[in-house]
Amino acid sequence: MHERIHNFNAGPAALPLAVLEEIQATFLNFNGSGMSITEVSHRSQWFDAVIQDAVERTRRLMKLDQRFKVLFLQGGASMQFAMVPMNFARADQTVDYINTGTWSTKAIKEAAIQGRTVNVAASSEDRHFSYIPRELNLTPGAAYVHLTSNNTIKGTQWGAFPETGGIPLVADMSSDIMSRPLDVAPFGMIYAGAQKNIGPSGVCLVIVREDLLSRIPKGLPTMLDYTTYAEKNSMYNTPPCFAIYVVQLVLKWLEETIGGLDAMDAMNRRKAALLYDLLDHSEFYRGTAEADSRSLMNVTFRLPSEALEQQFVAEALDNGLGGLKGHRSVGGCRASIYNATDLEAIETLVDFMQTFARHHG
Ligand SMILES: *Cc1c(COP(=O)(O)O)cnc(C)c1O
Repeated sequence: MHERIHNFNAGPAALPLAVLEEIQATFLNFNGSGMSITEVSHRSQWFDAVIQDAVERTRRLMKLDQRFKVLFLQGGASMQFAMVPMNFARADQTVDYINTGTWSTKAIKEAAIQGRTVNVAASSEDRHFSYIPRELNLTPGAAYVHLTSNNTIKGTQWGAFPETGGIPLVADMSSDIMSRPLDVAPFGMIYAGAQKNIGPSGVCLVIVREDLLSRIPKGLPTMLDYTTYAEKNSMYNTPPCFAIYVVQLVLKWLEETIGGLDAMDAMNRRKAALLYDLLDHSEFYRGTAEADSRSLMNVTFRLPSEALEQQFVAEALDNGLGGLKGHRSVGGCRASIYNATDLEAIETLVDFMQTFARHHG
């Protein structure tokens, strides 16, 4: 059997080893049920305890007050691109979007398909989405302002979130949810496909504030209406039980082993600093994100040539370092260093990068 590698995949991505071991240990007989978690009824006491715990841990970790509902949906973050405008904007309303890359662009496209008037309040497309725009052109009375908190492909991330004058922020946090503490006050809705930072693919975490739920028009298809999930504890139909179970275990690890989001943030900053420090002092590697917009989750960089990049990715894998190829749309290299990627993995990568540069620089 092969050893496990240091996993820098962008998504689905690394999960904490302790979580994988717990899944393995409990897989055949979950909590005395005599069944696997994949075999129990979603209406059973066993699954009910899992989903309730996942909701409560989300509330505690993110310091959500009672106005927020915590929901689990299928369809990934991509389905949220369509559900957000469908649910939260009237047909005659303008919706503001900040375009910081591929995922924002897709969200904008879906809002337009829904027939909403989309105002792109800011865009960083002029410099290949290598930065987070600071100047916003917001629409007074817009239904919401949508942004992507971390741009998985381009390696940029919002530090402080923009001031919107009371218009609710709606955020796609797929690739940095629970990587750092967050003041949820300006957010009306947050969503995140689980497979980057908090679990496996197949489930999308949705956090939505009451006043946005009250906007939802009548007559939406049942499964595309957030009310359906809010009223039935995310169990109107069969939820993705196994995926929710893994999320619950990851959140338990985050709370009990890591010690919450402040501790996670400190670790994530330390991890990212090791890589950015190397990029900043290298003649060989070149970071692609502008310094004040860099992501703590996805570190994107280039080598002097595409041939060297290919060789880098292949040799890295031979050395037990996987997933370093950049997204196919941009090329280059990318180290995704989500919550579950530990300091040792980063240190091993830094060592490898220094050695590779010495041999090829
Ligand atoms: C991966 C990703 C998505 C797409 O998520 P799916 O769950 O595959 O639909 C959307 N937004 C961001 C920021 C992502 O990183």
